[in-house]
This record gives sequence, C-alpha cells and structure tokens, in this order.
Amino acid sequence: MKVPDTKENLEKCICMGCPTHNDCMKERMQGLFCSRGKSDCELDKQGCICGECPVKSEYMLAGMYFCVNGAEA
Ligand code: SF4
Ligand code: SF4
Repeated sequence: MKVPDTKENLEKCICMGCPTHNDCMKERMQGLFCSRGKSDCELDKQGCICGECPVKSEYMLAGMYFCVNGAEA
C-alpha cells in the first residue's frame, strides 16, 4: 500500500533509531523512505528495523530497507 508523505507518518517513522541510518542521512534529515523513496547517501546495510515500525503495519508494507530499495509501490 502506498504511504502518504505526511507529518504524522514522519513522526511515526523509527528510521532515526536504525543502525543503518548514518551521519549523512541524519545531516540531511532523511526518513520515511517507504514513502519518499531511497536515500541519496552512501550507506552500508547494518540491519533494518522497519519491522518494528507502526507505519509498516498500518500500511501493510511488504518490503524492508526502503532507504536502499525505494518506496513501497
Ligand atoms: S516502515 Fe521503515 S521507512 Fe517506513 S516509516 Fe517505518 S521505519 Fe520509516
Ligand atoms: S528503511 Fe529500514 S534500513 Fe533504512 S533507515 Fe529505515 S529502518 Fe533503517
């Protein structure tokens, strides 16, 4: 299910607490990748905590690593 890019969803996003969320992503205030699409930062996969996020269950998202793979269609 497509995720709307809203303030409410951004506030629910837990990407900031994810080990993959690096300094570049923090400097650029990036998050809500399941809606906004992949990051333009260079990054190493260090785990993905989307599975614990309320946005994932609310919109029944199938994917993970949205910062690498892009938004849910
Ligand atoms: S599912 Fe992942 S990318 Fe989407 S809001 Fe939650 S933590 Fe962020
Ligand atoms: S999409 Fe997944 S891997 Fe990427 S920052 Fe968010 S929780 Fe971490």
